Amino acid sequence: MQRELIKLVSKLEKRFNIIKYVKSFSKVKNGWATCPIHAGDEPLMFVERIDGFNFFICGVCRSNGGLIALQMLHLNQSFYEVIERLAAEANIEIPASIKEEIEIYKSRKK
Ligand SMILES: [Zn+2]
Repeated sequence: MQRELIKLVSKLEKRFNIIKYVKSFSKVKNGWATCPIHAGDEPLMFVERIDGFNFFICGVCRSNGGLIALQMLHLNQSFYEVIERLAAEANIEIPASIKEEIEIYKSRKK
C-alpha cells in the first residue's frame, strides 16, 4: 500500500503546478507570494517548482512542503481528502488498496 501511495503522491505533485495553485489566491513575483496559512499580506512565502517538484516555505509561520501539504493547510483538508480531490480532477485512478485505506480513515473520522 505504501509504495502505491508514494507513487500516487508523486504523480499528483508532478501533474499539478504549485505556482498555478498559489496564483489562485496570491500574486507570485519571482517566487514570492503571500502565505494563506498565517494569512499575511506581505509576500513572504517562497514557492517554486523545479523538474516537476513542488515546494513552498513561509518565512513567517514556517509552513512548508509540496502542493498536497499546502492544500491540506490552506483548505483545512486531510491528506486523503486532498489526494482524492486531485486524483479525481486529473482523472487518475486511485489504486484499490489506497481506496480501502481512505474508507477506513473516513469511517474512523465519523
Ligand atoms: Zn505563513
